[in-house]
Amino acid sequence: MRIDILTLFPEMCEAVLSESIIGRARKANLVTICCHNIRDYSEDKHRRVDDYPYGGGKGMLIKAEPVYECVQSVLKNYDVKPKIIYMSAQGKRLTQHKVIELTKFDGLILICGHYEGIDQRLIDEIVDEEISIGDYVVTGGEMPAVILADAVCRLLPGVLSDEECFKSESHYNGVLEYPQYTRPEEWMGRKVPEVLLSGHHANIKKWKEEQSIKKTKYIESLDE
Ligand code: SAM
Repeated sequence: MRIDILTLFPEMCEAVLSESIIGRARKANLVTICCHNIRDYSEDKHRRVDDYPYGGGKGMLIKAEPVYECVQSVLKNYDVKPKIIYMSAQGKRLTQHKVIELTKFDGLILICGHYEGIDQRLIDEIVDEEISIGDYVVTGGEMPAVILADAVCRLLPGVLSDEECFKSESHYNGVLEYPQYTRPEEWMGRKVPEVLLSGHHANIKKWKEEQSIKKTKYIESLDE
């Protein structure tokens, strides 16, 4: 898979996506991630990409043109059209189900807004889907794009050592993961549940399933 992130702050995305598991996956060519600076596509001699919104209102808006030109340039790397996503507080909420759906694409272009966002005409012209990381507003699309890219990449073949790593994880099958423990067997007077030390695989499996359901019901009850 190839993921292109279009942003005014490519270093922000690079810094996070160069580390740890995703950084190693990139080095091993399991995924290609390229961060592009929208400012490089500004026609303005001062490389300005934003302007005041028509009709008034606070803040500045990113113009359609430089984002459009950046997308056109990135598209030259693709034989099959990638899915073009605008990271937006107004978009469809990102879920594990959506993340799994996105792994089916060979390419994703993630557009990051900043300031008050991007001229609506750009969104209407080229964006396939708007995706939100939650019902709150952050200063830019960089962190949302990094979160989406990380969540998608870790599901790609070879990125995690074993597919079971994510198949038993929270949200994959609609339930939350069971609690986990490591050494020592007792810490601050709190003991590791007896069953996990028993070596009885059937009982351990049953305990994990019960704990998953219990935790899921508890968290759901907090939302009611
Ligand atoms: N004026 C916009 C609104 O009210 O919907 C918010 C703009 S926000 C300050 C700047 C940029 O951050 C947005 O263009 C978007 O790319 C990104 N952003 C903010 N919150 C987000 C969220 N919850 N999910 C995804 N992207 C978000």
